[in-house]
Formats: sequence, C-alpha cells, structure tokens
Amino acid sequence: MSPEMTDSLIEKKLKTLSAISGLHQRIGAHLDLEEVGGILVDTLSNITNCEACAILLIEGDKVSILAERGFIGSFGSINLSTDMPAIRQIIETKKPIFSNDLEKDDALAGCVPAGCRAKSLLCVPVLINNEVKGILHLDSFEKNAFDEEDLNFVQLLAKETAIAIERSLLYEEIKNLSVTDTLTNLFNRRKMEEDLRNELERSKRYARPLSILMIDIDHFKNFNDYHGHQKGDDVLRKLASLLKANLRAIDRVYRYGGEEFFVMLPEVDKEGALACAERLRRKAEQEPFEGEKESQPSGKITLSIGVATYPFDGDTLDKLLEAADSALYRAKALGRNRVCLY
Ligand code: GH3
Ligand code: MG
Ligand code: MG
Repeated sequence: MSPEMTDSLIEKKLKTLSAISGLHQRIGAHLDLEEVGGILVDTLSNITNCEACAILLIEGDKVSILAERGFIGSFGSINLSTDMPAIRQIIETKKPIFSNDLEKDDALAGCVPAGCRAKSLLCVPVLINNEVKGILHLDSFEKNAFDEEDLNFVQLLAKETAIAIERSLLYEEIKNLSVTDTLTNLFNRRKMEEDLRNELERSKRYARPLSILMIDIDHFKNFNDYHGHQKGDDVLRKLASLLKANLRAIDRVYRYGGEEFFVMLPEVDKEGALACAERLRRKAEQEPFEGEKESQPSGKITLSIGVATYPFDGDTLDKLLEAADSALYRAKALGRNRVCLY
C-alpha cells in the first residue's frame, strides 16, 4: 500500500465498492426509467463530493432532465438545449468534461453558462450505440471537488444509465404494442378495460361522474361485401382519427372490436355524454367516405351509439358495459344512425 493511501481514501474506496455492488441489484428491480434515475442521482450524491448532480436525457435536439439533486431552485429552470457549449462539446467529442477550477480552465472558457457559480465540474456522456443519449452532470462550488476515482465511478454509472435507458425503451415499446390496435393505432380492448377499471375507482373515490360510449358502424358488412376488406379498413382508420379529433384531450377512444369503438369520458355526466355522442354521430354522418353512396342503405357511413353513465347506470365495470351495450342495441333497433341513453 502506498503511503498516500490514507484512511479516508480507503474509506472512500470501500464506500464506492459497496455502492457499486448494491447498485446493480437496486436498478435491476426497476423497469421504470424515472425510478432508476432517482436511484442513480442518490448514489452520485452519496459517493462523490458534488453539491448538485443531474441526469440529462438527449433525444434529437431536445434535452430533458431525468433526475436531479441539490440544485438551488431547479436545474430545469435553465433552458437546456443541445446548443449549449458544454452539451455540444460532449455530444461532438463523446468525452467527459472534467475541471477542478473552472475559472482558470481556458479550455473550457465559454462552456459554462453565465451566472453559474460552480468551480468544479464533472460531466460524463451516456453512450448508446456510440451516440450521446444522456449526460451525468456533477458540480460543486468548491475547487478540487473531484478526483480520478470520481471520474471512474461516474463513468461506470454512465454505463448503468445507458443500460437502464435501453431497457426501459424496450419495455415501453413492448408495453405499447400489447395495448395498441395495429390497424387504427388506437388503444385496444385490453387497455380499455384496464383504464376503465382505474377511472371507475377514481370516480368512486372523488364522487365524480364517468360516462362511456359504445359506438358501432351501421351496416358495415354491406360496405365490406361491396368494396372489399381493404377499403373497409380504410374507413375504420379514417373513423378512428375522426373520433380522436373530436374529443377533449382527457377523453380516450379505443377500438373495442371489429367495427366497434369505445369512448371514455371522465368527469362527464349523462347530459354531457349525450351531447358528445351526438356530436360524434353528426361528424361521422357529415364526413364523406369513398364508396359510401354505392354500398350503404342510407348512402352514408353512419354510427349508432349507446351511452351509459356512472353512477346512475351501474357501479361496476360489467354493469356499465352492459348498460352501454343495451343502449347501443336499442339505437340499432330504433333505426340506426342515432344515440340512445341507457
Ligand atoms: P349493424 O348496423 O347491425 O351493426 O350491421 P353491421 O353489418 O355493421 O353488423 P355485423 O355485426 O353484421 O357486421 C359487422 C361487420 O364489420 C362484419 C365485417 O364485415 C366488418 N368488420 C369487422 N371487423 C372488421 C375489420 O377489421 N376490417 C373490416 N374491413 N371490416 C370489419
Ligand atoms: Mg358490430
Ligand atoms: Mg355494425
């Protein structure tokens, strides 16, 4: 052991070692990127002498903050972009920035935003497929806050960050695939049931109304028989965007089955739901669809819609769906192209 290997250095090495061995296990249990980000910045601030640290994510020319610790105010209040000299330098060189005396460091002149009082800076790129997808940023108001050991440690954490980002992107992709209908790009029935269950819980907890719409295209078999399945699919896609375009941002539309759609309207009572359904019915009727004159009995692609509202028409998922379904059945029986309440 070299004579410089003081007790405090040994202690630091031990602390680093145990942080690294514990880290894998803690990160491994989490697929959610934000949770992983929180664990990583905790570890950075525990192990190094930084006063503040952050994990930046880079997507195209957008820079966002995944997690941060220790900043006065928020790191996010600075307008981050890939045009900032320090960020640009890291993206271009793919190399860390390391300075223990920023004021004297001519190589980094202009790299630090005006008004930044940090004297020590340690920034390490997060590389995925040899592209900079993120940055681990540590700084301190003290000079000489970091050493080689810190640099190595942060570089190791940058690798962990890369793995976590890749894994969570893959996870998101798979999760989205399992809840998306590939024809229309709308959410599917599985997602609808999950969302409706959650929304119903929320409505019960806060004693708020919740309305649902069951939507079915009228005489769609005629359209398919006349024009073929491909043209029928075009109609489904066009209707999907029409429905989406005519709803509020918090409303959700799903493909329920073949030519059936489902709309969830949080916070909307019976009256509001009726108005919304009527608007959608009218929009569809007014929208021109290629070939509708030839195949459809009324000459138009039209919708029948059944409306049900929590709590009046049911207080469970099954009862609500049954209510909407039976309202839809009545809309069909009464001649189609209409909206019926349960
Ligand atoms: P109604 O007014 O009673 O709803 O009559 P309908 O013809 O729409 O009802 P029915 O349930 O008899 O037929 C539904 C048709 O929807 C059957 C099929 O031709 C069509 N369909 C279902 N899923 C798809 C799909 O994914 N693509 C296409 N192109 N057509 C579909
Ligand atoms: Mg149907
Ligand atoms: Mg139909």
